[in-house]
Amino acid sequence: MGRFHKHPDGTEHEHHGADNQGHLEDQVGAGGHEDQVGAGDHGDMSGYQTGPERVVVLERIFGENDRLAAANRSTFDAAGVTAINMMSSPGAGKTAILRQTLACLPDTTRVAIIEGDIETSLDADRLAGYGAQIALLNTANGFGGECHLDAPMVASALPRLDLATVDLLFIENVGNLVCPAEFDVGAHHRVMVYSITEGEEKPLKYPVMFRSVELVLVNKLDLLPHLDFDLPLFLRNLASINPAATVLQVSARSTEGLDLWYDWLAEVGQR
Ligand code: MG
Repeated sequence: MGRFHKHPDGTEHEHHGADNQGHLEDQVGAGGHEDQVGAGDHGDMSGYQTGPERVVVLERIFGENDRLAAANRSTFDAAGVTAINMMSSPGAGKTAILRQTLACLPDTTRVAIIEGDIETSLDADRLAGYGAQIALLNTANGFGGECHLDAPMVASALPRLDLATVDLLFIENVGNLVCPAEFDVGAHHRVMVYSITEGEEKPLKYPVMFRSVELVLVNKLDLLPHLDFDLPLFLRNLASINPAATVLQVSARSTEGLDLWYDWLAEVGQR
């Protein structure tokens, strides 16, 4: 196990139930992890109005998602693909980091990207021209405009990729600090990008997301001199929520720190 290969130890998730018909408002515990750790755990349901029918519906939704996620992972394993689920708020820099990554990874690493957005091909277009296979997933196109990717959506994109010629698959999730954390899409690793323009307190306010990832890329570090952002306080808040997470301070703009990200990718790609 490499030095970057760490797994989150917080395995209990509260799921905001959601399906293609829209959101179910109450939070209900359900399993579902990128890694197999804790899959099937059920969160604390106390304090929520959870009638038996609602529980049955949500367990069915997450059960189906988790089965398809496992099938996606088996597909990746069979093809020798390492899949990474990239999550963040909108605008934190997932696409910018992926763009730098495509430009800097050695040619021997063959990359594919599933680009998740509610609408538009704007980000997929930014990633074109670097030799990576790209499959665009607009959730407004047949998936109810969902605010996250789930395992069935990712499965629907796989026929558009030639996984036999791929080493590394990035699944760029829809920009959202809540819902994407709750759906296992079948990736092997979960990574989040955090922009220092988002403030110090977000790990405390959105713990499910911060707890669900094994690596946090703290991005836009070049802006630090211009902000009131308290970096040590943010790092303490993050550590209080997910002490096991690997944290890399980077700037997609200046490329500062990205070498450590590439090292991490090289380690997780050796399977
Ligand atoms: Mg993007």
